[in-house]
Amino acid sequence: MIIFKFGGTSVGTPERMHKVAKLITRDNTEKIVVLSAVSGTTNTLVEIGELLLSRKQHIAQKLVDELKEKYRAFVNELYVTLEGKESGGKIINDFFTQIGTLTAIPDFNEGNNKTLLSYGELISTHLFHHYLLETAIENTLLPALDFMSIDEDGEPEVEKIGEKLSGLIKQSENTLFITQGFICKNPEGKTDNLKRGGSDYTASLIGAAIRAEEVQIWTDIDGMHNNDPRIVDNTSTVSELTFDEAAELAYFGAKILHPSSIVPAQKYSTRVRLKSTIDEQAPGTLIGVTDAAVGIRAIAAKDGITAIKVKSTRMLLAYGFLRKIFEVFEKYKTPIDMVTTSEVAVSLTIDDELHLNEIIEELKTFGMVEVDQNQSIICIVGNMISEKKGVLKKIFDAIPQVPIRMVSYGGSRNNISLLVDTNYKKEALIGLNQGIF
Ligand code: ADP
Ligand code: ASP
Ligand code: MG
Repeated sequence: MIIFKFGGTSVGTPERMHKVAKLITRDNTEKIVVLSAVSGTTNTLVEIGELLLSRKQHIAQKLVDELKEKYRAFVNELYVTLEGKESGGKIINDFFTQIGTLTAIPDFNEGNNKTLLSYGELISTHLFHHYLLETAIENTLLPALDFMSIDEDGEPEVEKIGEKLSGLIKQSENTLFITQGFICKNPEGKTDNLKRGGSDYTASLIGAAIRAEEVQIWTDIDGMHNNDPRIVDNTSTVSELTFDEAAELAYFGAKILHPSSIVPAQKYSTRVRLKSTIDEQAPGTLIGVTDAAVGIRAIAAKDGITAIKVKSTRMLLAYGFLRKIFEVFEKYKTPIDMVTTSEVAVSLTIDDELHLNEIIEELKTFGMVEVDQNQSIICIVGNMISEKKGVLKKIFDAIPQVPIRMVSYGGSRNNISLLVDTNYKKEALIGLNQGIF
């Protein structure tokens, strides 16, 4: 079994959906095809949800109507036959009736909002499934809400997912399966999701859960680039990455992959290939190689970071100080990304500010607390880079004008991280690109 995942732009227009249909029917290998919502839809649903949560029903309704009109036009181009166009129109009407019921709820809440967000993937997969049937391509639509689940901590239940999914696959004679990315059920049995960009995660979770041969992530770029192509010119594709390298890049901001998507692939040794729907022939990136060459492979940046410094003379020669500090973050389920220490202070970074105020209040019992928001982690990723001579010199020489707030070096062999003010991110990425590659 091979898992194919197509992102929003890859299914963003009727022509692109036609192209995806061709691509997945080139051979007869068993496939599960994971689709995102049509590009732009989830953003619009997020906007509608926010309006409803702040009780701006009227403006929300206008956006819903506009979205429905877009889909009417989409359906007209997607289907070829009159019958196809009619059944496509019915799919849209049915889904928008459900959306209408949801958006009319007077005390629309967070739970309703999660249900609302699920419609992007529900619509794209139903439209695509029916398009394949129209062109006489047998396929089975697998409802993700029947097998994709998360536990109380929001962690996917890989073994359970595998059992349920294998059961569903066995019930069908077909070798082609279509399912929704992003959406899942939570322990209360309610609709939830795997966070923005979560369709990549769906694909790798399915790959791990049913021990697939390969997971292919098809998107609008020819694989993982060595720097952020949205910010830096002349970036190039990295042809191979180890799981460790790919996991670091995804976690530290390479938007091509959801931050957690490599975790299940690595745990279950499922190779992942990144491919472009725009340039199908391009080799892309293979993730999961074991014999990577020594050296820097790529750079990524993660925004929205907050640095917290706790300064205390009590830290001097004390043991147990760091544990007490870390326990505060554990209490508020807030992950720490970077840590640096001196004899009298410790600096940490977090990207989840939900409990920032409570955390600061508790940390104040240990010493003076300073907080810097709007920081970015610049993550330099490669193989054995901390062993390579001169690597730090090369990095610092490349960005002489950029003030660096924190440095993390030696924590692993494949990552060097710098913390800079986000205003300096662009300069840092461009400078590093010139200095390193
Ligand atoms: P999809 O909708 O298919 O999931 P995304 O927009 O989530 O696609 O991810 C693809 C985008 O990721 C690319 O268009 C590119 O701009 C961006 N990106 C950021 N960093 C990288 C990188 N290091 N390599 C490749 N693409 C990157
Ligand atoms: N549609 C969801 C989003 O836009 C999930 C995804 O595209 O991966 O975040
Ligand atoms: Mg994405």
